[in-house]
Amino acid sequence: MIVVKVGGSAGIDYDAVCADIAARWKNGERLILVHGGSGETNRVAEALGHPPKFVTSPSGYTSRFTDRQTLEIFEMVYCGKMNKGIVERLQRLGVNAVGLSGLDGRIFEGKHKDSVRSVENGKVKVLRGDHTGTVERVNTHLIDLLLAGGYLPVLTPPASSYDGVAINVDGDRAAAALAVALKADALLLLSNVPGLLRAYPDESSLIREIPAADVENYLEFAQDRMKKKVLGAAEAVQGGVRRVIFGDARHGQPVSAALGGQGTVVS
Ligand code: ADP
Repeated sequence: MIVVKVGGSAGIDYDAVCADIAARWKNGERLILVHGGSGETNRVAEALGHPPKFVTSPSGYTSRFTDRQTLEIFEMVYCGKMNKGIVERLQRLGVNAVGLSGLDGRIFEGKHKDSVRSVENGKVKVLRGDHTGTVERVNTHLIDLLLAGGYLPVLTPPASSYDGVAINVDGDRAAAALAVALKADALLLLSNVPGLLRAYPDESSLIREIPAADVENYLEFAQDRMKKKVLGAAEAVQGGVRRVIFGDARHGQPVSAALGGQGTVVS
């Protein structure tokens, strides 16, 4: 089993990702696709007059402040446009894909965090009304049913809180939790960069290999949201996933290239 997470940043070639996945699926490989949608969510949120607000925690992690209205816009884009766009691509390629959010069947579950600490102008503020959380539990029953029926699951945040409230969760870490729960052979984190860069944005500074035991030491090279990918990779390898690869989804055959060792391989 391979878990593929494709991001939501500008430049990602979803046609290329879907064509590669469809070819591998038809060859008998078992795959699950998890996707993001942050770039499109930002665009739609601006257009709807509710621009995105990002907060940076005291420990340096950036996340989207998700009030109710943001959550609704987030769902429109992630569960609507992005999810159905990917499912349609796969259906056109002859793959019977099913798109679900983590709320559906409570596939992704975690604690609802209502407040977040944000560093603004050097001061720490507490913002309330946040709909975020972290995936702590993956309920694989529905996924097992789909796979057994020959369907390719296409999953996206949000997740469900333990009380059934929709929560915005990081897609990379959700994919990592899924890979651990399914005892996947590999987790691919595909984005619009060649992999983890030692000197971002210099693409010639690609880090090719990271020993699994050392992955957290590489957090220092990741800025902003790349940190969540490194954290997700650490969680996956600590949970028993043998290989995590940060790969390029901008062109070519992104899944096959990553599985062939291109990008940053954590093992
Ligand atoms: P996605 O939505 O595609 O999953 P993110 O935007 O969450 O991707 O994270 C990938 C982004 O992280 C890259 O587009 C890049 O701007 C940024 N980044 C920060 N530091 C690094 C780094 N050291 N190497 C590669 N990318 C980095």
